[in-house]
Amino acid sequence: MKMPFIDLKAQYTILEPQIKARIEAVLFHGQFIMGPEIAELEKALADFSGAKYAVACSSGTDALILPLLAYNIGPGDAVFTTPFTFYATAEVIALLGATPVFVDVDQHTMNICSKALEKAVFAVKKNDPDIYPVPQTKEPLTPKGIIAVDIFGLPADYHPIMELARRHDLFVIEDAAQSFGSSCHGKKTGNHGHVAATSFFPAKPLGGYGDGGAMFTNDETLANTLRSLLFHGKGDNQYENIRIGINGRLDTLQAAVLLPKLEIFPKEKAAREQVAKWYTARLKKIKGMDFQSIPSGYTSAWAQYSITHEKRNTIQKHLTEADIPSAIYYPRPLHVQPVFSHLGYKDGDMPVSHSLSQKIISLPMHPYLKEKQVEEICNIIVTATK
Ligand SMILES: *Cc1c(COP(=O)(O)O)cnc(C)c1O
Repeated sequence: MKMPFIDLKAQYTILEPQIKARIEAVLFHGQFIMGPEIAELEKALADFSGAKYAVACSSGTDALILPLLAYNIGPGDAVFTTPFTFYATAEVIALLGATPVFVDVDQHTMNICSKALEKAVFAVKKNDPDIYPVPQTKEPLTPKGIIAVDIFGLPADYHPIMELARRHDLFVIEDAAQSFGSSCHGKKTGNHGHVAATSFFPAKPLGGYGDGGAMFTNDETLANTLRSLLFHGKGDNQYENIRIGINGRLDTLQAAVLLPKLEIFPKEKAAREQVAKWYTARLKKIKGMDFQSIPSGYTSAWAQYSITHEKRNTIQKHLTEADIPSAIYYPRPLHVQPVFSHLGYKDGDMPVSHSLSQKIISLPMHPYLKEKQVEEICNIIVTATK
């Protein structure tokens, strides 16, 4: 049997009775929209994360759009983010008519580089590309906020990012689509920025059986605005319309599926950590091999286990021949995607992201991977890099 990249079947085997009972309960009570499982999940998510408010919504993408709507982002606004991420992170900025300003990542953490971020903010404020590459726009841009991404599950460098955001009066959204359950100096994902967005896409660390997402914040006013925005800008009741919003609700059925999955999540997270250790112990001996480094005081949710090597393509070829799945996240950084060509960025503007895109490869990662399977994968990589 082919080894899966992410083994959702193994998880279902463990949770089958609980998940079936939960789904059946929804089928019987019939409240498919905003049923009681939504509030139950939100409470469980808030308890787990330590954030005061968890607000469930329809996807990780909507969990990014809704805070941008709350902050009234639009044309002429600059939102800083990384080009080494899934497209949605920057897509949502452009969708609202604002301009994504790309900031290169740190080579070791693969997350946004806080030093480069400060330069980029000054470059936009002074409209001076000699300070840092800025997008070409007809009018100068106004810096409004930052979307920091916790790539592969590792939280970004929030301490300096929040400090910088305070000095420049910017909001910080944590794109925690990949990092649910990770932590930084004892604080869990959802508490680092002003608001965090996570995704329950099936392949994410906490995945449902369809699309879903959640936002986390400690700001009550913001939480209330988000709740209104995801329900067509409702006021005190759904027939009072006080702002322009979207249909961004989570389905009750997805909440029902996520509740039992959240219960075993801590155990699964520990298992992922163990898998990462098995990989690193074997792969670190390989010449030229590099890893996403987890700074001390940080834990990763291990959404992906990613390595970099000059012989990335050879490694992938050998793995494919052995019927072992792998993935390239991300083969082309966002600043040079066709959709953003009007911004005038060049490959060399973000050298670290460019170089990572050439060398990165993600290996199978899920809580049910066995040490023997990790060993098999590592042996293939050893041969491929000889
Ligand atoms: C998956 C992902 C998203 C989007 O989440 P969806 O639930 O698929 O909409 C956003 N940002 C990052 C970094 C992601 O990995």
